[in-house]
Amino acid sequence: MSDEFENVARMIESAGSVVALTGAGISVESGIPDFRSPGGLWTRFDPSIYATFESFVNDPSKFWEMAEELNPLLEGAEPNPGHLALVELERLGKCDTVITQNIDNLHQRAGSSDVLELHGTFRCGTCLKCGMKHTYEEIEQAAAGRVVPVCMSCGGSIKPDVVLFGEPLNARVLQRAVELATGCDLMIVVGSGLEVFPAASLPDYARRGNARLVFFNIATTAFDSVADVIIVGKAGETLPRVVEVYRGLSEGCTGTE
Ligand code: NAD
Repeated sequence: MSDEFENVARMIESAGSVVALTGAGISVESGIPDFRSPGGLWTRFDPSIYATFESFVNDPSKFWEMAEELNPLLEGAEPNPGHLALVELERLGKCDTVITQNIDNLHQRAGSSDVLELHGTFRCGTCLKCGMKHTYEEIEQAAAGRVVPVCMSCGGSIKPDVVLFGEPLNARVLQRAVELATGCDLMIVVGSGLEVFPAASLPDYARRGNARLVFFNIATTAFDSVADVIIVGKAGETLPRVVEVYRGLSEGCTGTE
């Protein structure tokens, strides 16, 4: 058994409260590339033009142009073994909440029951003029034959319920995330470059609350020095492996290899 996997499994075993913080990396193996890696969305669509709240209000067609490329990926994606491993941890009583920066709905589809979507979801949208809520299917209908989907009620511009750059996060969601981070014993950070704030400050809240931190990533992050353990590899492989080792420990097996 590799030491670092056993080390993390023992941290899970001794933690009363475990919280996961996930980023784009956990969904890469579901076919949704992260935005920052070479060739990612932001290398082709400058976010200051395509993804700020201000640019959306001034000209939503730019955003929808980018969404035409992204939406089929989001729609076609299925949860992968990384998402499922967090569901299994929850079933074992060892993952209270998944705090995610992702907008792809994959944690919910995998079966995680308490998911905090820091950056919202692509599954619905709101009219900027009258506030009417629209489901994804209604937005698709509203978009038929035009570049920009408009509200079924007033003809205003519909904005997907994703948090754009320059837009505040939902205060209630953020407050709960901070409380969970501050109160947990162990935070598992999966597939996040920790470059987007305030999400990137959550490990710091956990650390200040004396929690242990474990990072799962294929690469280094700017915050690696604060992690107790870093497990390098694809989340769809490393997370199930940790859960398997933890299950072995909790069932009283010594050494699974
Ligand atoms: P990021 O793009 O900044 O970082 C992704 C991280 O995942 C990187 O550190 C990378 O090394 C790592 N990674 C890539 N493949 C991995 C794998 N198979 N296993 C483990 N780690 C892997 O992502 P972020 O920190 O989440 O921030 C980007 C922002 O873009 C977020 O705010 C999010 O809202 C949005 N976003 C969402 C999705 C989605 O919903 N699936 C996809 C892309 C971007």
